[in-house]
Amino acid sequence: LSGGMGLAGLLAVIFPYIQRFILHMFDFNLTEYCAQFFLPDTFFGKLFEGNFALGTGVGIVGLGAALSFIQRTWAQLRAMYVERFSLSMKIGPQDNSYQDVVDWVNERQLKKARHISLNTGTKQTPSGKWESVYDYIPEIDTYKFKFKGRNYEISQESKSSDKDQLSVRGPPSLLLSSTGTNLGIFRDVLQEIKKDKKIRNEGMTTIYSACNGYWEAGRTKRKRPLESVILEDGVPEVIMSDVQDFIDSAEWYAEFGVPYRRGYLLYGPPGTGKTSFISAVAGHFDLNVCILNLSDKSLTDDSLNKLLIDAPEDTVILLEDVDSAFGSRDVTDDTDSRKKDGDASTSATAFEGMNRLTFSGLLNALDGVASAEGRILFMTTNHIDKLDSALIRPGRVDTKQFIGYASEGQVERMFRRFYRTASDDEAQRFVREVFDQPNRPEICLAQLQGLFLRYKKTPEAIFFGLSMLHSKD
Ligand code: ADP
Repeated sequence: LSGGMGLAGLLAVIFPYIQRFILHMFDFNLTEYCAQFFLPDTFFGKLFEGNFALGTGVGIVGLGAALSFIQRTWAQLRAMYVERFSLSMKIGPQDNSYQDVVDWVNERQLKKARHISLNTGTKQTPSGKWESVYDYIPEIDTYKFKFKGRNYEISQESKSSDKDQLSVRGPPSLLLSSTGTNLGIFRDVLQEIKKDKKIRNEGMTTIYSACNGYWEAGRTKRKRPLESVILEDGVPEVIMSDVQDFIDSAEWYAEFGVPYRRGYLLYGPPGTGKTSFISAVAGHFDLNVCILNLSDKSLTDDSLNKLLIDAPEDTVILLEDVDSAFGSRDVTDDTDSRKKDGDASTSATAFEGMNRLTFSGLLNALDGVASAEGRILFMTTNHIDKLDSALIRPGRVDTKQFIGYASEGQVERMFRRFYRTASDDEAQRFVREVFDQPNRPEICLAQLQGLFLRYKKTPEAIFFGLSMLHSKD
């Protein structure tokens, strides 16, 4: 209202000048025109004649009416346009891009989130215990932005309209909207968001873990350099060139209609660097890692299948300790034999209760894995002898690699990595002390790493530490 009055006041001041200007330029006099319009000898005609102020008043009202007419028409046309050409895309919290979009908006909109919402959920730990997890989710207000000359908006979908919320409690879906006719514009935006994330995570590896049946981005840590994992000579090279070859062979897979995936099994005793090596490989190829432990009791056939299919594109999938979920096939694959075998459920931990992961479910899920960019799947186990041959046949596992206890050479390299100033004599003495024992000890580099860390500040005491290690064995 005050805006309108202000406008009317402004018009009242400037309109006489406008009228004079029009009179001067076009020889048109509104006051006279009104007098003519109502015929000179009628009441209104007489009223207008020579009454410049009244003419001005009519002009003001007329102009105001015209303006409001234009404004209304414009608003209506806009509404029609939006209704006709509005596009929107819903991004649910389970979608892989969800977190990226939230991060992207938060970075732009809030820099530091000040309004957050709490999402308390429950999560089952691998040991089977349920515990509460607290998630802070920054509230996204409606965020408007321009991209490639087009206007976009990202907003939260209100919970009540989101039917999914009934079954899954979690953060609200997002709605990315714009106007146009081509849905492809959303792909451009998502690609931009992905590119942005890549730049932000340059030199980092993100570890995803499974949570309530979908992947959740967890820690982002610095890429592990390949040379920090000390393996038997030649081993890293074999795996790296295999992965490189796989990445380069997209066309071959397409041409022959072979699912574009490759499976690797690293087996051997614990603490020998299997997991470390896999994260270094991932980092080298600019990939992130999705880690899944099959002994996680919340896994079912369906959720495993979905997880493997839905894993983010730029990741390697790591199935850890694949032996721990199943005993042997007859225990796990066949319900009848399970009934016969009374204590089978204790050896096959994944089988308590209904709806658990089955061995055939795992095989199915593995066979379903593929992706346009190529899916790399690593499995680790400490006991290859416990694995069913169906699991490690080609197509599911294409390359098997044994990672064993440390050799002399590995121990020496590890020693030199930690004590860069050590002399050759010192290094050789250390290697001798490690292995010259009545029974040649089995050393894994995790043990040595622990030792080096303990004697970081007092390297001269390392031999004392070593003797403690031996006496423990
Ligand atoms: P695994 O997966 O074989 O059980 P990890 O990769 O989890 O072993 O290693 C456990 C720890 O020991 C890690 O912190 C890692 O840095 C160290 N480690 C083990 N093996 C090696 C190795 N070959 N080279 C460098 N570090 C190693």
